[in-house]
This record gives sequence, C-alpha cells and structure tokens, in this order.
Amino acid sequence: MLQKAQELLQNHFGYTSFRRGQDQAITSVLEGKNTVCVMPTGGGKSIVYQIPALVLPGTTIVISPLISLMKDQVDTLIQHGIPATYINSSLTAGEAASRMDDARNGKYKLLYIAPERLGSWEFIDDLQDMEIPLIAVDEAHCISQWGHDFRPSYLQISGLADRLPRKPIVLALTATATPKVREDICASLKINPKNTVITGFERSNLSFSVVKGQDRQAYLKDFIKKNEKEAGIIYAATRKNVDQLYEWLQKEGFNATRYHAGMNDEDRNREQERFLQDEATVMVATSAFGMGIDKSNIRYVLHFQLPKNMESYYQEAGRAGRDGLDSECVVLYSSQDVQVQRFLIDQSADRERIAPELEKLQQMVGYCHTEECLQSYILHYFGESDAEPCGRCGNCTDSRETEDVTKDAQMVLSCIIRMGQKYGKAMTANVLTGSRNKKVLEFRLDKLPTYGLMKNRSTKQVNDLIEFLISQELIGVEHGTYPTIYVPEKGKDVLLGKTKVFRKEAVRVKQVSNDDP
Ligand code: ADP
Ligand code: ZN
Repeated sequence: MLQKAQELLQNHFGYTSFRRGQDQAITSVLEGKNTVCVMPTGGGKSIVYQIPALVLPGTTIVISPLISLMKDQVDTLIQHGIPATYINSSLTAGEAASRMDDARNGKYKLLYIAPERLGSWEFIDDLQDMEIPLIAVDEAHCISQWGHDFRPSYLQISGLADRLPRKPIVLALTATATPKVREDICASLKINPKNTVITGFERSNLSFSVVKGQDRQAYLKDFIKKNEKEAGIIYAATRKNVDQLYEWLQKEGFNATRYHAGMNDEDRNREQERFLQDEATVMVATSAFGMGIDKSNIRYVLHFQLPKNMESYYQEAGRAGRDGLDSECVVLYSSQDVQVQRFLIDQSADRERIAPELEKLQQMVGYCHTEECLQSYILHYFGESDAEPCGRCGNCTDSRETEDVTKDAQMVLSCIIRMGQKYGKAMTANVLTGSRNKKVLEFRLDKLPTYGLMKNRSTKQVNDLIEFLISQELIGVEHGTYPTIYVPEKGKDVLLGKTKVFRKEAVRVKQVSNDDP
C-alpha cells in the first residue's frame, strides 16, 4: 500500500519522498486505524489525507473551518489532476446543490466542507448515498476547549461518523500538540491515543531567547539597527501598542510598516504588500498579522510583549526562517505583561475558558523563566518528549555559572505550606518579604514563622524566584476562582533536602525596603 502511496505522491504532486511522519500517518490510515497526525504549520499535513483519499475507493470528506483556504486547496488539487470540490457558505444554494449532486454521483475524490454543514439533516442525508472511506478533520484542535479556537460544531463530527452506513476511518490533523488537546481529540473522535503521529516541531534554524529586565525600546532600537537590512516582524499586544511603536520607529528613521484589525482593508492590504515585497523591512503588528502569509526570508520575530500562550507564540515565532536560514525569535519579558494578559483573560465573556487560558498563560510565563533549553521547553510543551538541548538558544548559550539556590527555594516552599497552599504568588511574595500589606495583616499572615524570611530581597526578586520554581515544576498552580500555588511532590523533595535546586539568575541579596513610601 505504501508503495502505491509513494507512486501517487510522485505522479500527482511531483515529490520524490515522504517527509518524516507523513508515511507513518498514511500507513496508519491505510491500515484502517483512526489516527491523529500532529505536525507544525507547513509540515505537510494535506498530503497525509490527500494520498489516502486517492488510494481508498470513494470520496474522502475533509472538514475544515478555514473557508477562505478551501478554494485554494481545491484549485491546487484540480491542477494536480485530482477531482475535488468544496461546499461552504460562500456558495449559493443552487451551486451547493449541484455540487452535492455530483458528489453523490461519485465525481470527486475529495469533498471539503465547513463544520457548520454537519448541523444540516439534509446534508447528512445526502451523505448516506455516498461511499465515504475517510473523514479528515483538519484543524482538529477546534474540537477542544483547551485549543485556541474552540468550535462547537466540531463536536458533531463523531455523530456524523456514527451515522454513515459504513464506518469511515477518522483522521484528525492539527498543529496543536498539547497533551490536553490531543486527549480531547482522541476522546471525541474515538481514536486510540496510541495511533498518534507527532513530528517535526523542531525548527533547527531558529534561535530562541528571552530578554528580561531591560529597557524594551532601547533594546528594540539596537536590535533593529543590527538587523537593519533584514525583514522582521515585531508583535505587540494591542492596536494602540502597534500604532505607538510604528510611529516611534518611523521617527527613528526605520523602514517600518504596520498591520492590525483596526485598519481598513485597503490600508491593511497595502501595508502587508509593502512588507511582502521587501519595500518595508520591519512589520509592526498584532497577532492579526501572519495567517496564511508566505514570506520565506523573515530573519527575526520579536515579541515586544508577552504572547498569551505557547501555541500562539510558536506559531508567530515560526514565521521566521521559512527559507531554512538562521533566524532569531525573541521575547521581551516584563512581569507587568502577565497582569495585562490576565486582565484580558478575565474580561473574556466565556467563563469556562478562563481557567484553561490562565493555565496556558502560566506555561508561557514558565517559558520566560526556565533556564533549560528554550527549544526543548517548546517541544516538551507540544508533546515531543525526546528533545535534546538545541545549543543555540539564549539558555543553551548562557555561560553564567549556576548557583545552588536550594536554601532560597526551601524558604519559599515552606512559606507556601505554612500559608495553607491557598494563596497566590503575590501574597506569598508579600509574606516572604515581610510586607505590611492590608491583606497580609487581615489574614494574620504576619504571625507565620516564615513572615519576613526574605525581607532583604525585593518583591520582584521573590516573584521571579517563584516563577522560576513554577517553571521547574517545584511549585504548582491551581487555577480556581483565582490562581493559588501549592507544593507538589517534586517540591517536597526539595524541602526534605532530597534534591537541590540550581539557578543561573541567582537572587542577589540586596538591602532593600519594600514598604518605604
Ligand atoms: P500544513 O497543512 O501542515 O500546514 P501543507 O500540507 O500545506 O502543510 O504543506 C506545506 C508545504 O510542504 C506545501 O508547499 C507542500 O506542497 C509541501 N510538501 C508537503 N509534503 C511534501 C513532501 N513529501 N515533499 C516535498 N514537499 C512537500
Ligand atoms: Zn537551547
């Protein structure tokens, strides 16, 4: 079977071989197993369902939420001599009906539909007459509340598979590999988690780094100067931030352009084109920019503020270096950004989304505080467990000596336990630094033996230490009504002196006074 697949790959698409993971996923599907295929954007997921669609008899249904991309996909298939079509809300009722007639007559190898179609009984009825060997669920993370783009209509997919006269194989495809999302996909689509193929998240030409405690504007200016001839993207959190940065960069004489959802279509397209055509080198944008753009020579992606989670971060950072040449991905971190992101999450109308979003934000903050390899941190997050240190990132190349901070860690951990493991990070830092904060006094936390244990450190230093310990999983975070911290088993080992804690960014003891006016 795989040999047939190989021939089809060559004949229809002109590629000589499968990429890592493609053959594995295709084999799994052709063996009749429901399968999850996780590959980064650009990894080559389309081939994974298009080839089986050609091998298997009948019409493969492809479910995709990206209506704007369906037409392109179908046009490309037709160019490659593969009969395909799509049905979505962009068609008139007449067009949709005529395509459906053709589909029922077996005219297509692939039929793309938007998930909303599944809400129509008439549509499901029409499918009953068709031979459907395979349902490919693109952007399968939309099934999960933990994904970044939950779509309720995705929950109807398993019902469709059940209602067809002959049970189709289900193939879920996504670039989101977080364990929780994968669990949801497998549960909803009845896929054995063993049939999961994850590959290709490493980007060996990208160097990641996190910059902390510096004047961001000064850093940015230096950075762009050093890369003046190169194309790069600066991501900022809000439209207002984009406008401010853009105006400032213009004033500083840089060849900048901008993009955000508050601009009209015409301006946005023009600015985007200027960047794509290399007329402007620096694109300042919100995360609205980048979906579906194809510019291979982006040499850096710099996040001026903390991204909201690892998925968005890796997707945005991953726009650098598509051509395979060395490129840089930088996050400028300031702890105030965490408050901003938390506020934005709290504002969200969907109460059920709050806890998952806060947890994802915490993983992003962990990225900014970890001292392990940043590429490995990302790969672990996405479920690739066997990542080796990359040797290129800011942490791998950090030559500072590590220091034993076990004593400091023990102070923090025992304080958390004394506080009953029911308070947040800020309160813990207040108690450790001996703050006279109203809440501290009200809850009588100043009576604890750990009160003021770190009074010679600044609140920021203690906060950073707590974030570091969270990134090491020595402190856990529980996202209830508000986030509280606790000491998991791994942290208890530190308290018991069974394991030591090492850190490069050691807390310098400085005489500071937190509560001075
Ligand atoms: P994804 O859906 O994972 O984002 P695509 O399926 O759009 O990725 O594929 C990304 C690019 O990789 C496309 O240009 C595609 O033609 C190319 N590609 C996919 N598989 C192969 C292969 N086996 N050999 C060479 N190029 C490939
Ligand atoms: Zn590294």
